[in-house]
Amino acid sequence: MSVSAIVGINWGDEGKGRMVDLLTSDFDYVVRYQGGGNAGHTVINEYGKFALHLLPSGIFRGGVVNVIGNGVALDPENLLKEIREVTSKGVTVGPDNLKISERASLLLPWHRDLDALEEARLADKKYGSTKQGIAPFYSDKYQKKTVLAGELFYPDELREHLLSIMEWKNLTLVNVYGAKPYTFEMLESWIAEYAEPLKPYITDASSLLESAYADGKNILFEAQLGSLRDLDYGIYPYTTSSNTTAAFAPVGSGLFSAVIDETIGVVKAYSTCVGEGPFVCEMFGDEAEKLRIAGGEFGAKTGRPRRVGPIDLVATRYGVKVQAATCVALTKLDILGYMSDIPVCRAYEIDGRITEEFPFPVLLSKAKPVIEYVKGWNCDISGVRRYEDLPVEAREYVELVESAIGCRIKYVSVGPERDSVIIR
Ligand code: GDP
Repeated sequence: MSVSAIVGINWGDEGKGRMVDLLTSDFDYVVRYQGGGNAGHTVINEYGKFALHLLPSGIFRGGVVNVIGNGVALDPENLLKEIREVTSKGVTVGPDNLKISERASLLLPWHRDLDALEEARLADKKYGSTKQGIAPFYSDKYQKKTVLAGELFYPDELREHLLSIMEWKNLTLVNVYGAKPYTFEMLESWIAEYAEPLKPYITDASSLLESAYADGKNILFEAQLGSLRDLDYGIYPYTTSSNTTAAFAPVGSGLFSAVIDETIGVVKAYSTCVGEGPFVCEMFGDEAEKLRIAGGEFGAKTGRPRRVGPIDLVATRYGVKVQAATCVALTKLDILGYMSDIPVCRAYEIDGRITEEFPFPVLLSKAKPVIEYVKGWNCDISGVRRYEDLPVEAREYVELVESAIGCRIKYVSVGPERDSVIIR
C-alpha cells in the first residue's frame, strides 16, 4: 500500500500532468483534491493530446478509479465538456472510473460572471484571473453560500437553498456591478443541463477512499498549480484561492487518515509564470522569446504567452519546503538543449543585500535576481533514457539543482511522451 502526492513546486505548469500520467500505472486511485477548471494539465498518450482541467489524469488508465474530492471547485459545465472531449477520443469515462464527492461544492454560473466583472473593475490592477470563477467560488464556499453536489439528490431542499443564495447573489450582481440578476428559471435550466447529468458519478468519496486505504490500495493525490500559488504560503495576493500543497490532500479528499509516503514535487528545468504578480527571475526580449517558443510556453487553458525565466533556485528551494517534497521530478530538461550557457537564478538581491531565503511576499517586488551561467550541452537529449547517457553538462545541471534545493531528483523528463523519462 502506498499513498503519494504529485504537486507543483513553482508557479504551476511544471508538467505535473505528464508525471501523473506516467505514474498512474502504479496506483488504484487518482484523486484531485483542490482547484478547479482554471489551470490545465497537458497529457500526451496513445489516445492523443489532452488538456485536463478537472478530470484526474488517471482517467486514461484502465482499472484506475478517479476521484474529484470535496476540495475541488466542481464546475459542471467544464467537467461535462471535458468528459465529452476525452470520450470522443475513445477513453472510457463512467461511474465506475469517475467518482465525484457529494461534498464538493458546485461552481455556479454567476461565479464566472463575477470573476469577469471584478477583473474589469480592477482594470490595470487586475490579478490576472483566468475568469473561470475560481476566486468568487472559493469566497462563496467560505461564506457558506454554495450548494454541495450531493444536494442534487434532494430537489426540494436544493430549490430552497438555491433560491436563498440567488437572492443574496443578485444583490451583488445588480447593486455592486450593475449586472443583470439571475432568475430561478435560469438556474433550473442550468441545473437540468449541466448538473443533473453528473448525478451518476456523485458518491460518498470519503468513505470510498477510507475503505480503499484500509484495503491496502495505492492512492495518488494530484494537485493543480504549485507551491507559489498556494493561498496561505504562496505569493499572496497573486495566489490561487485554494491550497496547492500536499498537506491539504487529506482535507480536500476526505481521506482523513492518510499518511503520505511520497510527495513528488515537479520542477521545470526553467521557470514560467502565468498572469500577474512578482516573478523575480523574469527574462525579457529575444532571450525570453526563444525560451518561450522552445518550450511551447503558452497557457493550456487560455493560450496566452507565459512569462519565462531561468530556474529560480531560491523559489524552488522554498517550494520544496512548503510541499515537504520527498523527491523531485525535473521536467523539460530537453528544452535547454539550444543554450550554450544556461542562466540560473542563485539568489535574490533585496535593498543591496544578497539572500538565498525566499522573502515575505511584499519584498518580492524589490528583489532582483542574482544570475550565474553554467555550461550547456548543446544537443538534443530527448532520446536519452539512462542517466549515465546524458551529456556531462546535463548531469552537472541536474546535480547543481539537486544540491541547491536539498531534495533528491528521482525523475528527469526529457520529452512530453509517456516514456521520455529517466529514472535515477
Ligand atoms: P502541468 O499543469 O503541470 O501539467 O503543466 P502543463 O500542462 O503546462 O504541461 C507542461 C507542458 O510541457 C505540456 O505540454 C507537456 O506535454 C510538456 N512536457 C512535460 N514534460 C516535458 C518534457 O520533459 N519535455 C518536453 N519537451 N515537454 C514536456
